[in-house]
Amino acid sequence: MNERTIALVTGANKGIGYEIAAGLGALGWSVGVGARDEQRRADAVAKLRAAGVDAFGVPLNVTDDASVAAAARLVADRAGRLDVLVNNAGVTGGMPQQPSTVSLAAVRTALETNVLGVLRVTNAMLPLLRRSPAPRIVNMSSGVGSLTRQSSSLDERDTGPLSAAYSPSKTMLNAVTIQYAKELRDTNILVNAACPGFVATDLNGFRGVRTPEQGAAVAIRLATLPDDGPTGGYFEDAGVIPW
Ligand code: NAP
Repeated sequence: MNERTIALVTGANKGIGYEIAAGLGALGWSVGVGARDEQRRADAVAKLRAAGVDAFGVPLNVTDDASVAAAARLVADRAGRLDVLVNNAGVTGGMPQQPSTVSLAAVRTALETNVLGVLRVTNAMLPLLRRSPAPRIVNMSSGVGSLTRQSSSLDERDTGPLSAAYSPSKTMLNAVTIQYAKELRDTNILVNAACPGFVATDLNGFRGVRTPEQGAAVAIRLATLPDDGPTGGYFEDAGVIPW
């Protein structure tokens, strides 16, 4: 069995996911770079390896059953277990998203990737996570998934642009995270949701104000929780986010 801690980061070819992979790799971990595009995946693995990370490519489209099953087989063959799963892959579904005009296709796209994708990948990886001495699952959510925050003001200037697909998809991801934490409460698997802050990436046309490295920090913290760390929580750098 591989003695290094084994992590899989979905959507790790760019943005926050790439920096999560780099940060976990810097700890000496072996990091699976989950990415759907062959060239983007190979480029990211090469860049990480050049930086000294024990990175390996994992072909992975989180919306595709066969792809996810193959990814689980790849991790099993390589390591026999998985210690940390970071469900980072995400899409907005396309903006703008006024609820009165948003296309149902945009809503479906957001849910398919941000919610069903997380369920699909997590359930495929759970048998491998159960073989780890200290398994952690980190779901990359967003502060816009917080109903407490969204409902705190009806003014977009306070709570961000109307987002009838993306924001509800992250709310559902939060709800799913709680359900996993409840099911897994008597195991050693800790599962939490994270918000990276407003990060400059492709997702928002690089309008974010934080760097991907800064956005990765909360996920790295939750990936490296001690055994008595929280589960079923929702965190940003500043601390707990109200659901
Ligand atoms: P990004 O640069 O657009 O990266 C998104 C990643 O997800 C890419 O690697 C993308 O791969 C991958 N992906 C999308 N659909 C996929 C699929 N079906 N299968 C596999 N991979 C898929 O965006 P980011 O800002 O780093 O976002 C990372 C996570 O942070 C997302 O969950 C996002 O919702 C969350 N987040 C971001 C912000 C922010 O301000 N940026 C704020 C809150 C939360 P391709 O290159 O193949 O498209």
